[in-house]
Amino acid sequence: MVNKMVVDSKKALEWLIEGNELYIRSEKNHRGDISLEKRLHTHHHGQSPYAVIVTCSDSRVIPESIFMTGIGDIFVIRLAGNVVGDFGLGSIEYAVEHLGCKLVVVMGHTMCGAVHAAIEDTHTNYISSIIKEIQFAIKGECDNTKASKKNVFNTVNKICNSEIVKEEVKHGLKVIGAMYHTHSGHVEFYNRS
Ligand SMILES: [Zn+2]
Repeated sequence: MVNKMVVDSKKALEWLIEGNELYIRSEKNHRGDISLEKRLHTHHHGQSPYAVIVTCSDSRVIPESIFMTGIGDIFVIRLAGNVVGDFGLGSIEYAVEHLGCKLVVVMGHTMCGAVHAAIEDTHTNYISSIIKEIQFAIKGECDNTKASKKNVFNTVNKICNSEIVKEEVKHGLKVIGAMYHTHSGHVEFYNRS
């Protein structure tokens, strides 16, 4: 069952950009609703997040603050280097098919340690599966920010290859890339239109 309170991709992106502008200027989260009222409302009536954010686990990258969001606003998937495997893709498919999200943003960031490790080719054990995925994406690029951008688009492409995503794209879903700048707090959105 698709949630009835669906927000289209244009409006969802407007809210993210607006929230990010507030975040850059703020010391506290002035917009995201984390009130008891909102908590109880979403508890009883379910969630209808307006965007899916796929990003890195890096502690400097905090999606709910970066976009000034509150309870029920964004559906977040985080793994080091913003890679997605089967579990991540499954989470995205759930959000677009069952929760009605019309916007998926894959957000890389500057100074990404996972991308750095892929460039330096340093990895061990489980980390190696992440590094190999990023190395495949960056194809020898040595500049961290440029490599991060390539890595973002590799994840965008993986998401767009999902049959469920392809179907939802016909009904208004957008999958876009973005870069969070760890020094300024600014989110640069790619392929917005
Ligand atoms: Zn990172």
